[in-house]
Amino acid sequence: MPETKKIPQRTEIVDKHKWNLADIYADDAAWEADYQKAKGLLAQARQFAGKLAESPKSIYQCLHSQSELQIILSRLYQYAFLNKDLDNRVSKYQALTERAATLSSEAGAAYSFVEPELLQIDEARLNQMAARFPKTDEYDFYVKELIRSKKHIRSEEVEEVLALSSLVTRGPDTIFSMLDDADLKYPSVKDEQGNEITLTKQRAIKLLESSDPRVRKNTHEAFYSPYKDHTNTLGASLTSAVNADLFYTRTRRYGSCLQAALDGNNIPLEVYRSLIEATEKNLNGLHDYVRLRKRLFKLDKIHSYDMICPLFPEQDYEVSYDHAVRQVIESATPLGEEYCIHLKQAFHRRWVDVWETEGKGSGAYSAHSYSVHPFVLMNYNNTVDNLFTLAHELGHAMHSHLTCAAQPYPKSHYSIFVAEVASTLNEGLLLHYLLQKVTDDKQRLYLLARTIDNAVGTFFNQVMYARFELDIHAEIEKGGALSPEMMTAQWRDLTQKYFGPDFTVDELTPLKWSRIPHFYTSFYVYQYATSFAASQTILSRFLKGEENLIEDYLRMLRAGGSDYPIELLKICGVDMTTPAPVEATLKLFAEQVTEVDRLTR
Ligand SMILES: [Zn+2]
Repeated sequence: MPETKKIPQRTEIVDKHKWNLADIYADDAAWEADYQKAKGLLAQARQFAGKLAESPKSIYQCLHSQSELQIILSRLYQYAFLNKDLDNRVSKYQALTERAATLSSEAGAAYSFVEPELLQIDEARLNQMAARFPKTDEYDFYVKELIRSKKHIRSEEVEEVLALSSLVTRGPDTIFSMLDDADLKYPSVKDEQGNEITLTKQRAIKLLESSDPRVRKNTHEAFYSPYKDHTNTLGASLTSAVNADLFYTRTRRYGSCLQAALDGNNIPLEVYRSLIEATEKNLNGLHDYVRLRKRLFKLDKIHSYDMICPLFPEQDYEVSYDHAVRQVIESATPLGEEYCIHLKQAFHRRWVDVWETEGKGSGAYSAHSYSVHPFVLMNYNNTVDNLFTLAHELGHAMHSHLTCAAQPYPKSHYSIFVAEVASTLNEGLLLHYLLQKVTDDKQRLYLLARTIDNAVGTFFNQVMYARFELDIHAEIEKGGALSPEMMTAQWRDLTQKYFGPDFTVDELTPLKWSRIPHFYTSFYVYQYATSFAASQTILSRFLKGEENLIEDYLRMLRAGGSDYPIELLKICGVDMTTPAPVEATLKLFAEQVTEVDRLTR
């Protein structure tokens, strides 16, 4: 196991800790052969165009041939991209990745006639035709979704204009990214040792974790100064993005921007509203947590820059990879024997690429294509954080694996709404397992505080962002105008409300609205909070040892994208249209805060 500071080469890593990408293609020649096959399939698309209305068979054959092509395309991309990410300095796989991506967009263009042509067919007739497909359980959900989308599809001429409009409406996002990622320059600050550090986003995060309050404060002020200098530009950019949402909402005849955004996954509006309402009714746990930080850090006031550094340092808590694997497997025991067999297989059959090596992609992810098992990329570094990341990514991998084995390709794409349940549930089980094992109070406190901070980031912050998005859209919808002053004032009020009386909102924190990239994909972040609440609810049921839950849970994972996410969660008894899952999450959070408080008295 590489312990040295120097980043190893791939040749230095044992095979069992490296991906076996030969599971996708034996070699590059096999990739090339499949690429040629995909090109051939792509050329067939033309023969279906203009003929779909002729018979159920002609529709089915076209959809089937499209699926077959997509399966190959995703396998081609998978092999090229994963090889590339193992060493980004090798240009050969960059070229293969680009070729696969180009072929995918050509395929999209070649089959772009399908949906408009199917939508021309009258609804009752399309249903009748779908009932006579050679196989009726493959495209039924697809057809149902197509029919559901129909009422928001406009005339051919309007659709043509809407298709062209994206060139203009994606402007705000592009302008924001250019400013935020390229043009904004952060000043320098002094670290704990007095060294002058030029700030970047990554360095700011590190410095905000400092145990020295002076370093945190100076970093915060330096980090926000360019946003303060550009607040009018950033305000205009976000306002334009909201106006673009309103443009699509009106042209597609939705009642509100929220409705337009939630319609894609058929999420009822109550889900969004009840998330915010239930949380805002019960912020005491978060207020208590701010008070606890104030006490433990011995500060008079808590500012936003005192919320990031860990309450307890990660002391003497190294986790070797082999130990991590054992813990991830053992902690998943409540999910049943079958789940654990798949999980072991992932570790033993080289689905995981473990160590950081020269040129390898950073971070961690699980990647899957329909016809091959998933692969998990790690940059494992023996920390507790990495142990949880491993559990998280394996949760995604098991979800993909079970879905792809159970579903036909058209139903294999699950939404993020359920995906983050499959991953965070494993993190929750791991935490529970570790808390049962630790004997040392320090480690117990470290684990609990880590969990609490994770909930603040994944749940409370996201709910507050969701509330802010709702407010700024409502303002534009009622014909009002947004200004940087108004958005700043709104952020200040919400921050005070969420974080409570022991939190002091300084001058710069309310500018945070101006630097959140996710606001350019509106009404997206709430899903982090809803998934978290759903997974906490399922977790508490697992820990109670409820009967049949294993079966239900596996059924939900296997269901993949065969139904709407809200319906899938109901399989496990979670109804996100009611406040219950959010209330349970808030209760658990408050209990964890109380426990840390008690252990530190
Ligand atoms: Zn995830």
